[in-house]
Amino acid sequence: MSEAKPVKKRFIAGAVCPRCGEMDRIVNYTEAGKNFRECVACGFKDEIRLQSQPSELTTRVNQPQQPVEEQAVKIIGGSGSKHVGKK
Ligand SMILES: [Zn+2]
Repeated sequence: MSEAKPVKKRFIAGAVCPRCGEMDRIVNYTEAGKNFRECVACGFKDEIRLQSQPSELTTRVNQPQQPVEEQAVKIIGGSGSKHVGKK
């Protein structure tokens, strides 16, 4: 019962298919963490290997540090046994 997610395909402007030579027929999409290019005209498919791919850089852009303070609210119950000393 697993629905296949529609893969976003984007046309690469000016890209020429190496097989059929058609321009603007190459789509770029990502599948299973890999980049592929595919020609919609002839069905040419190729994997695009990126060189020196950074492993998930965490971009820190102006993140103000907000120290999270946990306020422990202590409810002091005054139900202790009180000895009222009577003399
Ligand atoms: Zn093609």
